[in-house]
Amino acid sequence: MTVIRGKVGAFDYDIVVGPLADAGGLLTSLARGKAMPLVTDARVFALHGDSIRAITPIEPIFLPEGEAAKDWNVLADLLGHLSRLNVTRDTPILALGGGSIGDVAGLAASLFKRGCPIVHLPTTLLAQADSAIGGKTAIDWNGQKNLIGTFHQPSLVIADPAFLETLDARQLRAGYAEVVKYGLIDDLAFFHWCETNGAAVIEGDRDLRRVAIEHCVKAKLRLVSKDVDDRRGLRALLNLGHSFGHAIETVSGLGTVLHGEAVATGLCLALDLSVELGMCPSEDAARVRNHLTSIGLPTRLDEIGVANAGALLDAIRHDKKAGPDGISLILLRGIGRAEVVRGIDPQRLTEFLAEAV
Ligand code: NAD
Repeated sequence: MTVIRGKVGAFDYDIVVGPLADAGGLLTSLARGKAMPLVTDARVFALHGDSIRAITPIEPIFLPEGEAAKDWNVLADLLGHLSRLNVTRDTPILALGGGSIGDVAGLAASLFKRGCPIVHLPTTLLAQADSAIGGKTAIDWNGQKNLIGTFHQPSLVIADPAFLETLDARQLRAGYAEVVKYGLIDDLAFFHWCETNGAAVIEGDRDLRRVAIEHCVKAKLRLVSKDVDDRRGLRALLNLGHSFGHAIETVSGLGTVLHGEAVATGLCLALDLSVELGMCPSEDAARVRNHLTSIGLPTRLDEIGVANAGALLDAIRHDKKAGPDGISLILLRGIGRAEVVRGIDPQRLTEFLAEAV
């Protein structure tokens, strides 16, 4: 197993990539003999709950699957459950599942008794490579993606690539979009690695999956460690493809298009707009689109049934990343050269989206 030490602002935690059983001692030492609440969904628990139970006593709490878990009422029920279990504020809450379970469990942990430790046991490629790291928590609100949330760093993350062996191909591909994102932000060599190895990562090569996860974890730590609360523009680069992606999720109805599918399409929209604004060579946009297509990810709005440019613009305008300078987007000078572009002309964006649908 590999242990990556995460230093995120004042927080310091281990991210273990490797077999859960090898990291069991870390879990039992956190538990200190008490049963820990384990937030999960029924599908994931049926597949992997026993492997946790074999290590430490747990009290499972079941949430709906996928994006449906990121809901105000689900959060309220979860907090009620923690209260009925009389969880003390030093008891770690375990999150076993994908990014959605991690986001809502992290939010509950940050609120309950003004903050309990959260331990992420991510079970999707997206969660292992990205969402379990960095401390963002969220639920959706009023049809809007991630509108309510906090920053709450985990005490420990254990990413066991063996969990991915039960994940279906669509979820794997969706998670892979976030992996490619790290190449596009500032790492051309990693994008090249993705072009060479991406298909094998999806098909199930264990070693390559581990390499991809470790690479992304380190990249994410590098970007979040100097901008813990996302206010300095460094962490913002992680939102590459996400302003478009979140708008796609919102317009198509949250939970319809998978987050990673929306991000894949959003990455291509960010590249296309960058080309149109004269920032990025069109060959780079074509290269990324070819790679994502070869993996089986959507790269165009018509592939995911989004046809309403006005609704997309509206959703981008309401995104929480919109600031005093108007619409900001992460655009690219080329593969591996992402940057924040502020004050984008709404008219230009309207015309671009009208062409893109
Ligand atoms: P998900 O959590 O929404 O859904 C995963 C689905 O796969 C569920 O149906 C689950 O039951 C199933 N599943 C999970 N693990 C499985 C396994 N090992 N075997 C079989 N089935 C399994 O999907 P996701 O892509 O992991 O997460 C997407 C969410 O993550 C979005 O809401 C997104 O906004 C969020 N996100 C958060 C951050 C962050 O920094 N906090 C970063 C990126 C994405």
